[in-house]
Amino acid sequence: MTSADNIARGQCFCGAVRFRARLPANWVAHCHCGMCRRSNMAAFVTWVGFPKGAVEVTEGADCLKSYASSPGGRREFCGVCGSPLFAHVPRWAHETHVTRASFLGDVDLKPMGHAFFSDRADWARVDDHLPKRGGPTGTEPLP
Ligand SMILES: [Zn+2]
Ligand SMILES: [Zn+2]
Repeated sequence: MTSADNIARGQCFCGAVRFRARLPANWVAHCHCGMCRRSNMAAFVTWVGFPKGAVEVTEGADCLKSYASSPGGRREFCGVCGSPLFAHVPRWAHETHVTRASFLGDVDLKPMGHAFFSDRADWARVDDHLPKRGGPTGTEPLP
């Protein structure tokens, strides 16, 4: 963790909470599940998956609010401006998920696909050619 190139930095909208994440990321994906849509009030949310421990809040940890969004799961957001920042989910217990939009610049991966695509909002159109996953688990390959 010596080269600045191996670090991606991000922050909430107001800048009270700042963080850094050690690259490489595990994956980047668009999530269409109902919890992501409703907790972000968006058609879908783009997440970057990092190994647990790779993400460090460098400023404003006291501003970070946490919400138990599912049994054993929690979402963290800035208590000042409300920006959604992190998610911790039991199914991916070894990872920290970070909203792609909170990064100030590039991460090392582009979005790789869509998850929970069967649950997507019917009022937004997705017409890219990335792989779509969905079904009961949200992550099964769709035709
Ligand atoms: Zn903020
Ligand atoms: Zn989701």
